[in-house]
Formats: sequence, C-alpha cells, structure tokens
Amino acid sequence: MILANFLDSVISGFNVSDIRLNQEDQLIQIELTKAGNEIFCYRCGNDLSNAPSCGKHRLKVRTMPIFGHDTFLYLWRQKRHCDVCKKARSEHLGILSQESPHIARDFSFWMGKLCEFSPISRVAKALGVDSVTAWRIDFQRMKNQCSRYQFPKFSRISVDEVYVRKFDLKEGDKRSDRFFTVISCLDRKKVLWVTEGRYKESLDEFFKMLTPEERRRIKVIAMDQFKGYLDSAKEYCPLATIVWDRFHLMKNFNEALNDERKALHSKLKDKDLKSKCAGKYKYLFLKRESRRTIAESKHMDYLMEKNDGFFSSRSSKRRWDSSLTPVMRTRLSRSWRK
Ligand SMILES: [Zn+2]
Repeated sequence: MILANFLDSVISGFNVSDIRLNQEDQLIQIELTKAGNEIFCYRCGNDLSNAPSCGKHRLKVRTMPIFGHDTFLYLWRQKRHCDVCKKARSEHLGILSQESPHIARDFSFWMGKLCEFSPISRVAKALGVDSVTAWRIDFQRMKNQCSRYQFPKFSRISVDEVYVRKFDLKEGDKRSDRFFTVISCLDRKKVLWVTEGRYKESLDEFFKMLTPEERRRIKVIAMDQFKGYLDSAKEYCPLATIVWDRFHLMKNFNEALNDERKALHSKLKDKDLKSKCAGKYKYLFLKRESRRTIAESKHMDYLMEKNDGFFSSRSSKRRWDSSLTPVMRTRLSRSWRK
C-alpha cells in the first residue's frame, strides 16, 4: 500500500488504516486512526488525556479531492469531561476547519480562496457544500485577513457612502443605518476601511484607528456635502484640505440649471417654442454640445434664434454676431448666464 504509506506521512498525527474507492459514487474514503493518546479540549485547550470519557462519535470529513474524486476522511472523535469548561467537550483535532467539523482545514482554505473571486453561492454549488457553511468559511477568512490588516501610507483620502440594504436590521434603525461609509485611498485607488452607517461617528471610528502621525499626514479629504463627514474631518484633521467631490458638485449644478430652465419655460408665451423646449427636448439642454447630432444642433440653433431675448437678456448691450458658430453661441450664452 504505497498510497497509504504516503498519506500516513502527509496527514500528521493520524495513521491511515484503510483506503476505499466507492465505484458507484466515485468517492475516495480514507479511514484514519489517531496516532497519540493526548487529548485536548477543542474549546479551551485543557488537557483531557486523563479526564473521564463521555463516549465518542464518528466523523466524516470532506477533504481535498484526489485525481478529481471527492475524498472523505473517516475517524472517531473522543468526548471527555473538561474541568475548565465544566461540561463534556469534544477533542481538538488539528485537521478540522474552525468553521465546521465536517470540513478539513485544507479544504476550507481552498474554499476561502475560491470565495475571493467568485460569489459564495457559486462556490457552494460547484463543490456541493452547504451555502451557510461556505458563507461561514468566507467570513472567517475575511476576519483572519482583517486581523492582520495594516493601513498603508496615504496622504489623500475620499469618503463616501454606499447604500447596502433595503430593510432595517433592528427596530428603531434610521435610514442612515442602511449605508456604509467607505474610506478610500486616492493615492492607491483602493478601499482603506469600511464602517457601518452614515454618521459623523462612522468617520470618527476610522480616524480613531489612526495614529496622530497618520492623521497629520492626511493632506486632502474628498467628500460629498454631508455635514457629519465635514465635522469629523475638521475635528480630527484640521489641517487637511476638504474637497467637494466632482460627482456631487456636478449633480447640484445640473439640478440648479434644470430648475432655472423650468422656471423660464413656465413664463414662455409662444406655444410652438414652448413645446420645443420641453418633453423629449428637455435632455438636449443637459447634453454636451460635442455629443449632439446634427438634427439636435439645428434644433438648438432654432431655439436660440427664436429665444433671442433669453440668450441675450443677461447682457443688455451685447448682440449676436452672425459669424458665430452654434457651438460658440452656446458657449457664450453659458458664460453670460454665470
Ligand atoms: Zn474546555
């Protein structure tokens, strides 16, 4: 039994007593017996070698496949009375994963790796593992990664919120509890940290984790116009420059422009002109001039000619120069409106 001898040396702490191939299901079943007599509590680590026995139970443990065959380990797990835990406890077995006694450590590690770049449900389906177990393995993997996480060096950050759920987690939750606050590093274009909620405290939590030196090093903080974030940034990084992010500025600017367009439209008396300024033509005003089609540009020219009062109202003495191109006219009309 060359394979048995080989597995003996690979699976530390156990002896291989039997290997079977289940022809029907194409499974490999490996029977294991424990090598030593030492027994430790799986929860507290207390030595249970001489503790009174509380029986034993059979374990079937999924491990890494061999040559494409699903492979299972079969072994007995002792149960002893633990004086520290003050109850019957199963023994600690190094080959078992932390998340489930039915999955081996190496298999769990492999699943965790797959979950890094694939949805958990897909991984669970592909490997034939319960999706809750897969979720637990992935959660444990992320927790392990976070425990070793260290902030990289950064001087420019951005703060924003993301909407994460449509329902409340507990009674009395506010709408802000449905958001996560995401802090990203603008130097590396990577997420630095995520906290729950959209409050001043959410950003405070991040700043509190930094050392005073790291806080002083922050030169720029980009954010939306939410007051909570601003207060937090001013409190912890008073020297940093606050930058309103472009997306929210553009959004506000577009809204203001649209409001003015609507107000002017409501005052229009010419019915033909009125119909050509609203409805499907509304978005023409918001469209970048370089992206307009020829028909759309002609439409805009028509409106500008008919609506001379509007386009020149902000500059009483200025007159249209007939040599101006439509593009120039639009550009000029924009600058006048400022
Ligand atoms: Zn114990």
